[in-house]
Amino acid sequence: MAQVNWQNNPVGAVFAREGGEMPEGTFRLTNGGYEVYTLVTADKGFQPASLYYGPDDSDKVKVDAMAPDGKVPTSMNCFVVKTPDGYIMFDTGLPTAKGGKTLERLAALNIKPSEIKAIYLTHGHFDHIGGLLDESGNAEFANATVYVPAAELTFIKETMGNTGVQIETAYKNRLVTFEPGEVLGDNVMPIAAKGHTPGHTVYQIGSLLFVGDIMHGPALQLIDPDICANFDANRTQSIETRKRILSYAVANSLTVLGAHIPINGILF
Ligand SMILES: [Zn+2]
Repeated sequence: MAQVNWQNNPVGAVFAREGGEMPEGTFRLTNGGYEVYTLVTADKGFQPASLYYGPDDSDKVKVDAMAPDGKVPTSMNCFVVKTPDGYIMFDTGLPTAKGGKTLERLAALNIKPSEIKAIYLTHGHFDHIGGLLDESGNAEFANATVYVPAAELTFIKETMGNTGVQIETAYKNRLVTFEPGEVLGDNVMPIAAKGHTPGHTVYQIGSLLFVGDIMHGPALQLIDPDICANFDANRTQSIETRKRILSYAVANSLTVLGAHIPINGILF
């Protein structure tokens, strides 16, 4: 694979950030006719560098050299895109009852949950799917079709216990599974990106790429993509995916947004 110098790439110039004040925890950019809102759904701030040490602390020396204060900046984000046909979301953050601020951020942007017409899930971890449900286990998004990678629905059912049952019950025939490569609603294209979880998927719409959890600490992993967070279930696959997806983004001049990219969710 050709070595790409991600940290020095010029792709970030393709989007224009809007001027003016935004409500707390929200950011707005425009790109290719789309308006994108980053919702910071939990104030994470920093992770301990030890999360990146790897099995048997194999990466400790290089991680400590890159993060000498022992802290790695991170965040917890989800994203709303205004398409010509309405609002769609990528992931949902934690539920409100667990401290998730997705609904608060939507309200601050004057977007009602009922206006979200589609939700695309990158994977089945709770900080990405938990916001689908309200406190009673009912659908938080009354009109949204929820797109979930087929392998991730299996993963959710195997690992998430009652949450998986509640999501299937709450969304019933509005829950749509798919395989990577099928073009979905709104010309959203899912791209296989497994490793973090068995069916982890990233999504391209126009020149935007929502990469979910291919990266948790860009201060380390953008410089050295061989470094994994200990959340990555399959390290070998995660490293291959991280390099492949970032190379694809650079080759196609895409703007990359991630669920744990600090500040505003924009990697480049
Ligand atoms: Zn995550």
